[in-house]
Amino acid sequence: MDTKYVKKILKDTAYIRTGGSKEEKKCAEYLRKRCEELGAKAWIEEFTVQAADGLRCSLKADGREIDCLGYKNCGSWDVEGKLYYMPNTDRYSLSEAKGKIVLIDTGVTHAAFSDLYDAGAKGIITYSGDANNPADVCIDHKELRGFISEGKKLPCVHVHTRDAVELVESGAKKVSISIAQNEYEENSRNVVAYLKGKRKESIVLSAHYDSTPLSLGSYDNMSGCIGLLGVLDELKDIKPLYSLYFVFCGSEERGLLGSKAYCASHEKELEDVVLNVNLDMIGTYMGGFLACVTAEQALVDYIRYFAAIEGFGMKAKQGVYSSDSTPFADKGVPALSFARLADDTIAPIHNVFDTPAVMSPERTVADTAFIAKFVRTMACAGTCPVSRNIPDNMKEELDYYLNRKRRPDA
Ligand SMILES: [Zn+2]
Repeated sequence: MDTKYVKKILKDTAYIRTGGSKEEKKCAEYLRKRCEELGAKAWIEEFTVQAADGLRCSLKADGREIDCLGYKNCGSWDVEGKLYYMPNTDRYSLSEAKGKIVLIDTGVTHAAFSDLYDAGAKGIITYSGDANNPADVCIDHKELRGFISEGKKLPCVHVHTRDAVELVESGAKKVSISIAQNEYEENSRNVVAYLKGKRKESIVLSAHYDSTPLSLGSYDNMSGCIGLLGVLDELKDIKPLYSLYFVFCGSEERGLLGSKAYCASHEKELEDVVLNVNLDMIGTYMGGFLACVTAEQALVDYIRYFAAIEGFGMKAKQGVYSSDSTPFADKGVPALSFARLADDTIAPIHNVFDTPAVMSPERTVADTAFIAKFVRTMACAGTCPVSRNIPDNMKEELDYYLNRKRRPDA
């Protein structure tokens, strides 16, 4: 893989491709073709996601119209209440939320939603965007995720940070929210490519190809998809011992839905998966390289040694990375995510600034070459040395991340 190839893929996929959209489908077909072009067998696996259209939304504060977008799949509503800005989530703060429309600083997380629902809040306002960047004007389009709300609904609207600040500054008293939408289900999809090894056991590589509603998703995460294509290109002729699956996941940005669907529909085969290597954001000009390992500490230490021997600067640590490695680890597959993490002021994600311009084709090639060496070593190992046991500290982190347990301090 060379820089020309990186530039071509970035250019060809420079469009918004949210999970379940026709653009996501177009990109899935595109990636399937690229895999076949490299000589791999490749196919598409569909799964169902929530969808909404015909969305209309209005937010009024003391009669003034505020620019907003209603959350997809939060239902249709007409509500009115006192505005309550709630920067903290302690018991006292929550006790004041009853019957009010609550502006919060966090997104609609599982904890925020269930707390506000139980406290009797009438609605939720969230915000994002850089208030001090005049070029940052768009409002992100959020959704009420099924696994967050667990079937309950509240009217939720999203505004730009500038308007959120203005609501607080002006001391707005009464707000009303009106939302109308049609909710249904549609298909999202994973693209799977396969290189046959000598053994039944396999290594699954993954990278999501969907984007958020405002983003071209070049860094997050066409870069990781290019990495996967580069690894495929590098390993297609080596006849590995372990079979290799390359899974380009859809709907990651909607809550890891593609990798969750893959793990659910391949539950039996996962018993023969010795490792998941996930790529989410590589190849920027700036930022350190990280391996976040949801497996035994020995793998962290091994990656550190391996990188030093290969002459590749990086950091490795144990942890749960907010990406498609997590559902694999949760099914007991040792998993890790590779990423090059640029500062938010240089290569921000989930907004209009994530474009091919933030990507370094040279760095993408170099990052991919390192990842390919690592995968080749594992794929050709006499036996994959990584223990199938996910250690207790990682199991606990998975419980927190997947909302089965609440952090003591949250
Ligand atoms: Zn991502």
